[in-house]
Amino acid sequence: MARKKVIAGNWKMNMTASEGAQLIADLKATCGGNCCCCCAPEVMVFPPFTTIAAVQEAAKGTPLVVGAQNVHWAANGAFTGEISAKMLVEMGVTHVIIGHSERRQYFGETDETVNQRVKAALAAGLKVILCIGETLEEREKGVTEAVIEKQVLWDLADVSMEQLDNVILAYEPVWAIGTGKTATNEQAQAVHAFIRALIEKHFCPVCAGKIRILYGGSMKPANAEGLLAQPDIDGGLIGGAALKAADFVALVKAASATC
Ligand code: PEP
Repeated sequence: MARKKVIAGNWKMNMTASEGAQLIADLKATCGGNCCCCCAPEVMVFPPFTTIAAVQEAAKGTPLVVGAQNVHWAANGAFTGEISAKMLVEMGVTHVIIGHSERRQYFGETDETVNQRVKAALAAGLKVILCIGETLEEREKGVTEAVIEKQVLWDLADVSMEQLDNVILAYEPVWAIGTGKTATNEQAQAVHAFIRALIEKHFCPVCAGKIRILYGGSMKPANAEGLLAQPDIDGGLIGGAALKAADFVALVKAASATC
């Protein structure tokens, strides 16, 4: 089954509103007349909450998807510092990243809270990029598959097959995020194939054929083509390289080349 590739830039806590608008202008300029946003892959950016509106404005008229980096599970209430799905939807946000390893590592997110966020986002009509992945310690102990299976089962608990159509998975080995270390093509492909098999086992074969699984972890122009050519890698979730227009456009072009 042909799956449309996705190149998604996670800006993390980078880019003020004016800097974000400038990055979109740079992306458009780097693409020239043939805007990267019109290429074969779906192209997405995930700015900080306060930068979203400026990026939406700068991206008007292009198919660039502008998403958010997290969402709370409650509709509203006493949750200082959090943002609800309704708030995102009202400002035209369609996609949200959930379960990024930095949220798990630094902000106490667990599979249980990730699952609550996933369910609330889907119920509100948002599309979710759900991040999963093992730490270096877990890989060295040989428990990568067990960790991934637990994350898939917990994070997607009570998600229906129909709702799964609105989920994109991102396999992000924690040891490869922001470290410059990338999983080899073979290491990444092996885990992606395992994740697809899990979706087949716990949801359905058609679901497994349809779901897009992105790789994240120091993806950059120099290693993208090999990773994106793997049969179970459907795109990339990109941190550092998404902050430089030339690198991000090179990744979009690499994804176009392997479509
Ligand atoms: C990420 O934050 O999801 C990520 C993959 O970061 P980097 O590309 O910088 O490793």
